[in-house]
Amino acid sequence: MSDKVLLYYDDAMLGHNPTGWDPAHPEWTAAVQALLREQYGSEEEAASQWTHPERPARLSAVRDALLETAPTNVEWRSPRAAEPAELARVHTRKHVTLIEGLAGRACWLDVDTTAVSPDSVTAARLAAGSGISALEAIAAGDARRAFCCLRPPGHHALAERAMGFCLYNNMAVAAAHALEALGMERVLIVDWDLHHGNGTQDIFYHRNDVLFCDTHCSAPFYPGTGRLNETGDGAGTNRTLNVPLPAGSGNAAVIAAFEQIFVPAARAFEPQAILVSSGYDGHYLDQTFAMDAPGFAQLTRIVMELADRLCDGRLVLMMEGGYNAEALADGACACVATLAGAASPEPARQDDDPGLAAVAQAVACHAARLHPDVFAEPSGRQPRRQTGDASESRHTR
Ligand SMILES: [Zn+2]
Repeated sequence: MSDKVLLYYDDAMLGHNPTGWDPAHPEWTAAVQALLREQYGSEEEAASQWTHPERPARLSAVRDALLETAPTNVEWRSPRAAEPAELARVHTRKHVTLIEGLAGRACWLDVDTTAVSPDSVTAARLAAGSGISALEAIAAGDARRAFCCLRPPGHHALAERAMGFCLYNNMAVAAAHALEALGMERVLIVDWDLHHGNGTQDIFYHRNDVLFCDTHCSAPFYPGTGRLNETGDGAGTNRTLNVPLPAGSGNAAVIAAFEQIFVPAARAFEPQAILVSSGYDGHYLDQTFAMDAPGFAQLTRIVMELADRLCDGRLVLMMEGGYNAEALADGACACVATLAGAASPEPARQDDDPGLAAVAQAVACHAARLHPDVFAEPSGRQPRRQTGDASESRHTR
């Protein structure tokens, strides 16, 4: 099959443009100022970034860089807007009605600076429709891999409210579409954004048909969730795997978390599609991590190999955060090139990466959750037959 990569993008997603200030609400301006100070370290730099951090230039930078550098085997497509009923699979009707009712208005939704401008709702429905469109095209056999250039991001949005620049949870909407409209039984979500994907985790926390794997900067870093002991509940027990990492973590730690925890878990879970919340705020030019473009390319290679091995290559990357436009564009281009089959340089892995100890701790914590028997459900799905004595004795008595 072709290794064509579908790239989803629509100019209308640039229309989401909260200004970050409102004369009638000085407290909003103060909230954005505080966030920029935290992000950029100094008053001067914060002042030079005087705009809402989740700004249209993030997406246009990715678009322009991809137009310039993308390999020839990519195909640009426009996503369709998600329908209210598709949004309501993971959001409360009340939340969908509230957001849809904001069309044409500018206002502020919460204290952590989530806001809308008049065209935000159109952008949000397209962002939420991007993963749906990609999965439908893949199900139709158009390609195996897709990258969704989108904003606003989604992984902090909860079932019942907007949060952290996110209006709808694009990732959760996509995963629910795979499960409820495209007939899939198990979906793997990987989230390598710098911030914990609290909304995605929360939406699927009690479900056994989604395995959620997340590396992120440890609490109390925003949003303050994603601890090792958050591992799912009820039917979702052992279906959430968090690897919180300290500030300063780089390629070595994040790649080790993927290789040592997410890869074995994915093999045991046997997903029918892999979806990635691919934020680029872990880049060293952005906030607290020290990753770089070859590091993101390597993560892409790991999930591609998993997808090829487990689910006929079905893989969709969806943008999340990333607030330094140069880092965001570099990271996205590296991932798209990798999806398209290009070789990329081996990432530098520092032996003294401060995250390696945290990964070792996470491996010890999650070890028992990575066994294929954990994923053998009462529904009758048998654990994958492994080669080797242990598995033989388990299955042939
Ligand atoms: Zn983020």
